[in-house]
Amino acid sequence: MSRVRFTLPQVKDYPDSRPSACPHCGSVILNRHGKVTKRVTDLYISEVTVIRYRCTDCLKTFRHYPKGVDSHDRSLRLRGVSALSWALGLSLRSVSHLLSALGCGLSRMSIWRDVQEWGSGALSGWMNRTRGRVRVMGADETVIRLRGKKTVLGFVTDAKSGQLVGMDVLVDRDSEGFMRWLQRYVSRFGVEAMVTDDLSTYKPVVERLGIEHQVCIAHVRKNVRRRIDEIDGWDWHRENDRKAQDQVQDS
Ligand SMILES: [Zn+2]
Repeated sequence: MSRVRFTLPQVKDYPDSRPSACPHCGSVILNRHGKVTKRVTDLYISEVTVIRYRCTDCLKTFRHYPKGVDSHDRSLRLRGVSALSWALGLSLRSVSHLLSALGCGLSRMSIWRDVQEWGSGALSGWMNRTRGRVRVMGADETVIRLRGKKTVLGFVTDAKSGQLVGMDVLVDRDSEGFMRWLQRYVSRFGVEAMVTDDLSTYKPVVERLGIEHQVCIAHVRKNVRRRIDEIDGWDWHRENDRKAQDQVQDS
């Protein structure tokens, strides 16, 4: 299995750029209007500087946050860690204990909100440090059970290298949910084709994304084999399937 490396959102203690436009009216002529210190809950940083700006057009003021910080009292990095720990199989209670041990105690309710935020794609920065293009992307899901509730994790890989490109919690498993999940990868990496299993949900999504679609034969074979294995007395089919598999490997 390839090594998995996660990229957590970075957190800076000072904004390293100016805002590009007023969030209220879009005007680009902005004046600095003081600064404030904000306490944040994070693994490494406890305080950040927030710069206030005043728009010269609509005269409204707004706050400009450093990287990895927003109006929330917890950093994006910490929210990411809590969602990821849960997604990797820890219960909400265990994530809460883990974060307390790291000095960032969180209630189970907050962790659950982080997970949903992550699943909706609001927490970006979870992609691997893949650079350049991923012409052919593989997409797959796996279901984990959490307190009797099915939870779906979506994986995106570079089909050529097999490297993991990103991982998401899929809250909605319908076409709209899949669009939200896959669109950002397609536009970021210039994806031209997608390899998936034979799940019918992918087909309309891939069409809307305007890229090529390939059904992965290994997936199909795995699914067929699993279904055959579930049925008693199909030894002849199983044997045949195995022979066909050996022939493919020999050739
Ligand atoms: Zn304005």
